[in-house]
Amino acid sequence: MSSIRFLPDTPSRLLFTDLDGSLLDHHDYDWSPARPWLTRLKQLGIPVIPVTSKTRHELLPLRRALGLSEAPFVAENGALVGLPPAWCHARLERDPDPDGLVIKSLGVDIGFIRQRLAIWRHRLDARFTPLSELPLDELVACTGLSEPEARLARRREGSEPLLWQGGEAGLEALRDGLAGDGLRLVRGGRFWHVTGACHKGEAVRWLVRRYTALRGHRPLTLALGDGPNDIPMLEAVDQAVLIRGHHDQPVAPAQPALYRSRVAGPAGWAEGVAHWWGRDGHRGESALSNPAGQGEAMA
Ligand SMILES: [Mg+2]
Repeated sequence: MSSIRFLPDTPSRLLFTDLDGSLLDHHDYDWSPARPWLTRLKQLGIPVIPVTSKTRHELLPLRRALGLSEAPFVAENGALVGLPPAWCHARLERDPDPDGLVIKSLGVDIGFIRQRLAIWRHRLDARFTPLSELPLDELVACTGLSEPEARLARRREGSEPLLWQGGEAGLEALRDGLAGDGLRLVRGGRFWHVTGACHKGEAVRWLVRRYTALRGHRPLTLALGDGPNDIPMLEAVDQAVLIRGHHDQPVAPAQPALYRSRVAGPAGWAEGVAHWWGRDGHRGESALSNPAGQGEAMA
């Protein structure tokens, strides 16, 4: 491995990343093209922080497999943040879960969301199926998840996906109703998601504030994502990478320091990290050396 190229006055860094279609391949969840950079960032002590729409229970095994167990994470599109011990205030957060994590809710409780959805369904005679009411075999059929994965996807804490079966007008009426409860209806892929007033960008800002409070200085931040729900995250950081997507939804973050990757998935992820932080990127004085020539092959 080549030498570290930080200058003494280089700020510390945080990397925030979407998973599906970004660090993980959209089709088979492979991340091998990103592995050299993950190894390099770990050696340099730079946290790689997953920011995902997945539930905490879906994310935890992935996080272990990716070697990211020392970094915090954001689950359910910003509804909750998981903090390992080094990210906790010792006097505030004393009761970690069995995984050693402290879970902070940035949104609203799932019980409130489900209760209000039931009320609005009755009032509006709205036609939708919340994920929690979808039979397991139907969830497996419509997501392609395995049955154990589908069970983990149903263990929700701060957001409820739903399959909408009505028309446009009904959807607007539901959106208005939920807004009065302080809830949002946001578009995902197959599902609409009901959440509190939280999103990926708010969760990223929360973690940057926490880091700054604990360390006494603000870090340099990079975020990578491919979807519309990544826009607030890409706008909340210093440098951003929009990874070429497998969808046709427009993604146009208001971010002057934006790099659009040429390739999709984890190869685009490595290309994006190399663009901002690689030796040959010429992005200022503090470039990191590229692991295994990553990024250069794509130039
Ligand atoms: Mg994605």
